Amino acid sequence: MQDCLFCKIVKREIPADIVYEDDQVLAFNDINPQAPTHILIIPKRHIATLNDLEEADQALVGRLPVVAARLARERGFADDGYRVVMNCNDQGGQTVYHIHMHLMGGRRFTWPAG
Ligand code: C5P
Repeated sequence: MQDCLFCKIVKREIPADIVYEDDQVLAFNDINPQAPTHILIIPKRHIATLNDLEEADQALVGRLPVVAARLARERGFADDGYRVVMNCNDQGGQTVYHIHMHLMGGRRFTWPAG
């Protein structure tokens, strides 16, 4: 998608602090971190919202928590615990319309989320 911010990060058209990449997935530090570690994990392919997922996307989307757990282990907070979040559409708090998993760690989280 031409105007998608996260597609531009994938294409290196705008900068990001990239912490992980493979053929399908990119992860980078959130510019407005809500925790000591706050990473966004995205599919490289543009998918606007969770509502746009199709059956064929299962393996791709399944990579997001796999990468989240790997990054949590690497950063040493996997055993203490962490939060992953995917927001969908306006009421869900989505502001960038390219699906992403937030990985937040390094502090205690409360429930329910705000
Ligand atoms: O779930 P939501 O769509 O609200 O999350 C978007 C996230 O993208 C925010 O946490 C915001 O700080 C982050 N962001 C970023 N780099 C940008 C623009 C937004 O990390 N250039």
